[in-house]
Amino acid sequence: MKILVLNCGSSSLKYKLFEMETNVVLAQGQADRIGLADALFQHDIRGRQSLTIETQLANHYEAVHALLAILTDKKQGILADMSEIGGIGHRVVHGGEHFRTSVAVDSAIREILESTKKLAPLHNPPNLMGIDVCTSLMPGVPQVAVFDTAFHQTMPAYAYTYAIPYRYYTQDHVRRYGFHGISHRYVACRTAEILQQKLENLKIITCHLGAGSSLCAVGGGKSLDTSMGFTPLSGLVMGTRCGDIDPALVSFLVEKEKISLTQVMEILNRESGVFGISGISPDFRDLEKEAGLGNERARLALMVYAYSVARGIGSLIPAINGLDVLAFTAGIGEHSSPMRRRICEFLSWLGIALDEDKNVDSVVEGLISRNGTKIMVLVVPTDEEKMIAQESWAVLQSNKNTPEKGCAFNHSTMKDIGGKKNEKS
Ligand code: ADP
Repeated sequence: MKILVLNCGSSSLKYKLFEMETNVVLAQGQADRIGLADALFQHDIRGRQSLTIETQLANHYEAVHALLAILTDKKQGILADMSEIGGIGHRVVHGGEHFRTSVAVDSAIREILESTKKLAPLHNPPNLMGIDVCTSLMPGVPQVAVFDTAFHQTMPAYAYTYAIPYRYYTQDHVRRYGFHGISHRYVACRTAEILQQKLENLKIITCHLGAGSSLCAVGGGKSLDTSMGFTPLSGLVMGTRCGDIDPALVSFLVEKEKISLTQVMEILNRESGVFGISGISPDFRDLEKEAGLGNERARLALMVYAYSVARGIGSLIPAINGLDVLAFTAGIGEHSSPMRRRICEFLSWLGIALDEDKNVDSVVEGLISRNGTKIMVLVVPTDEEKMIAQESWAVLQSNKNTPEKGCAFNHSTMKDIGGKKNEKS
């Protein structure tokens, strides 16, 4: 079966087409600047030249339409016909408390999804628009929603309950939800595979360190706590997001700066994090470079980030009552050996020690801790699209939801287009 994975953002569309039986990625690409005059649609199709098309895409309907046209194009495409697509897997950021697993979308599910929009007003509306567009352009092709929040639905109440009046939970569903669940689950499963151990027997903290960063404590194959909360603004310091701060800062800024709440939220989302501290960039490569040249604020931003991750790891240990493995993933986690070193130095009291011959920028996957240390440290490249495809396949094959915990798959066998590294969302 061929499964098309779609990740619809407010002005972007990322896609990946998988042939599930042969474990092959047939095509992948991305449209940016949807809704603007000069959209770009980039495609990487197996056995074809990479393609970047400058075009105008007024909305997601036009973007999906253009995608299907390319995939079925006689010269540039890879499908004889659209009917070859057996299923569509959608990334949906927020499933609220309704969705603990991936689900096939029907009209009843679509209605429940509508109610999740208010929990993720920036992300869920474009995700759901993707579902609606596919319903009209590919009627009859089954669709599956795979949620970033679902993996974390196994957290115990004492981990997800905020200490504010309980009525806000019962009335408004205010609680810790957590995000990046597709990535955390994938990385936990892959970690167990690499170590050739049962996931259920491992106590893992997965560290998804990208532009958005979060940690997850995985015990018994389940997410038992995570650093992000009601929104992806909380938890770790991030590229431009502040992470955990004193909530009283919000009213302080409103009053002192005479700005609106919306403006404060904009500052906390887009002008904070390592960008806010350094005043240079949210990109860790720029910060490493500047820090190397002696820029003190770049150095400070990197140390604040490292300390925030180490502190977060320490705070999650009670959730799993111990720690066997730390698994680093996403842009920074996979590629920045200096950042992994800084984080692990704060954790040396736990007996964590890196093997500096293994902890190099070029490491692709595997152990980077010193032989004989009690807590293993791994680099595990995440692949959220692969996870969405596999979850969707499982739902479509079995006609039921995927399990809440553990791994239903062997993740190691999926082949990429011509040896290219998978593109992450
Ligand atoms: P997202 O999917 O959340 O947009 P990614 O997982 O792609 O983010 O991570 C993006 C981040 O990874 C950027 O801040 C980028 O600077 C950082 N990054 C990528 N490669 C490196 C590297 N070699 N060294 C340090 N940081 C890196």
